[in-house]
Amino acid sequence: MKSPLQKSIQKIRSVIKDIQAYHVADARGLIKLDAMENPYALSDGLKAKLQARLSEAELNRYPDPSAAVLREKLRQVMHVPQDKAIVLGNGSDELIQMLAMAVAEHDGADVCLMSFDPGFVMYRMIADFTGIDYVGVSLNEDFSLDMESTRRAIAEKQPSIIFIAYPNNPSANCFNDEDIEEIISLAPGMVVLDEAYHPFAQASFMDRLVEHDNLLVMRTVSKMGLAGLRLGLLCGHPDIIAEIDKIRLPYNINVLTQLTAELVLDNVAEIDKQAELIREQREVLLQQMAMHKDLHVFPSQANFILFRVLNRGAVDVFESIKQSGVLIKNMKADTGLLSNCLRVTVGTPDENRAFMSALMKAMKNE
Ligand code: PMP
Repeated sequence: MKSPLQKSIQKIRSVIKDIQAYHVADARGLIKLDAMENPYALSDGLKAKLQARLSEAELNRYPDPSAAVLREKLRQVMHVPQDKAIVLGNGSDELIQMLAMAVAEHDGADVCLMSFDPGFVMYRMIADFTGIDYVGVSLNEDFSLDMESTRRAIAEKQPSIIFIAYPNNPSANCFNDEDIEEIISLAPGMVVLDEAYHPFAQASFMDRLVEHDNLLVMRTVSKMGLAGLRLGLLCGHPDIIAEIDKIRLPYNINVLTQLTAELVLDNVAEIDKQAELIREQREVLLQQMAMHKDLHVFPSQANFILFRVLNRGAVDVFESIKQSGVLIKNMKADTGLLSNCLRVTVGTPDENRAFMSALMKAMKNE
């Protein structure tokens, strides 16, 4: 006889049971350079304004279901073309999920979601739990797009959605513009340019929304310094956005998030300055790391740096850095394009110095 618990678990789809839960490392007591967060807090002046604003929040009421004021501010700050529409998500993760749900189970047709590997893990995870085939086209060794394989995969698989992270995570590079243009023109469905790291790349497809009706541009405020808010936006043709919006749960952007984001966007110069500091610090780190002969450092247009450890095990280097009090990300690959690679987020100058000294110590240890 099966217990009620066993019977309940039996009802859960096997595809869900097979998924490895997204692991978030415990960073207590460590300098946290593992998750591409912005290391800077808001200024005291802005914090005081925020406190006053939030104390007036009507927590007994549901939020504005469409967050109209916030969407308008985002349109202005992020230069979303006037005739394009915007839908908001509880983080861009939720937008990826809404997109996948919108195409899953398409009138009995085979549905596939395509992206590039190594890439952002949530594309594959969300495809898995929405029951969509995931096609990951392998990148070239320098993390550029392999256009021959890409053309073939598009022709064979006819993907409903193609996700392109621009810059890519974990490789930190922006793909070639003409390659992306070609993918948009070959795609039989939507192409989502995921511009999560836009503040550090300063390159965008936002203004090309007017040229391509199947193009969608996704942004988030997470890397701008508001990861705790959980707010992402998807911009594109109003007819596509209207369909995606039907899937959105009515009050997905809570009152506190709406008010906070509105206030910070009114003071956007403050977070723009933070992004500038991070871009400067990225160049300092890139230069310092590149001087070590046993590190292969990949170029970065994001707020993180991918690097390969040569002549030593990356796991040992990762652990040694952690012992020194700094948490970075171990890409956990023995083979393939990410073999022996680690990824570090750019922090404050002090945090970066702590990382560099931990890294140098780790490289000496071996
Ligand atoms: N896209 C990419 C490429 C990412 O790396 C991440 C987060 N690491 C996200 C989207 C998710 O961002 P959000 O915090 O808005 O859910």
